[in-house]
Amino acid sequence: MWPREPDPFLPGVVPPEEVIHSEAWFFVFVRGELLCMNDTGSPRPVTGDEYRWLDLTISNEHYMGTYHNRACYVVDAVGVAPEGYVLLGLRGWLGRVAADVFYLAGRAQQILDWQRDYRFCGRCGSHTQDHATDRARQCPDCGLISYPRISPSIIVLIHKGDSILLARNVAWPTQMYSTLAGFVEPGESIEQTVHREVMEEVNIEVGNISYLGSQSWPFPNSLMLGFHAAYVGGEIKCQADEIADAQWFTKDALPQIPPKTAISRWLIDDYLDKL
Ligand SMILES: [Zn+2]
Repeated sequence: MWPREPDPFLPGVVPPEEVIHSEAWFFVFVRGELLCMNDTGSPRPVTGDEYRWLDLTISNEHYMGTYHNRACYVVDAVGVAPEGYVLLGLRGWLGRVAADVFYLAGRAQQILDWQRDYRFCGRCGSHTQDHATDRARQCPDCGLISYPRISPSIIVLIHKGDSILLARNVAWPTQMYSTLAGFVEPGESIEQTVHREVMEEVNIEVGNISYLGSQSWPFPNSLMLGFHAAYVGGEIKCQADEIADAQWFTKDALPQIPPKTAISRWLIDDYLDKL
């Protein structure tokens, strides 16, 4: 569950000369969804052999790097899914492919989104160009360099003895309860973000903050940093327009919680397993 081992994917900007094109993987996005083969029961990217016969209009193609020595590309295309292929959003890949393949598809989508959103310089408005050696866009007029945007966020399980605090966001369509989460503000340490977010969302003071691990969450570009924190004081008071409900739950009376593909669930399971 926690991606703690070295990533088998090695990022790169320029394809190596010995790249075997027929065996490469192409993450082809059509209207924001991934074109995939479904021949093995779970989605997989298009191979180089399949890619050369696709009847699609290609607007962008970027080399990403290698996954177990297999070259990977991300492609932006226009058209309809050819016969034998299906279009599936990134969320449809979650839990249906090996975890590192999901993160690779998430990486592909983030690279493509960033290429699309940084075509013009944010400072002077000129057309940007690909940086020669880095994954970056550079402005030829003012020199501004823009890297893919990653947004760090904290996600925290608050515990009080054998109880854990879970909350339901007002925007969620289901009755699911989860751990608290929020974006890091400029100037904050990660630990300060934990204190602030917990106080803002449920009016609780926490301490003994411990870091457990992280997860890339490509919806659209978060890096979730997961913590456990101990209850110190305060009564639950939900932030208006943000938290619909928050409660203390025990292991034998849990509400609906996130699936095992999410870091929130890993934080919950890790704590409950230790009880
Ligand atoms: Zn510029």
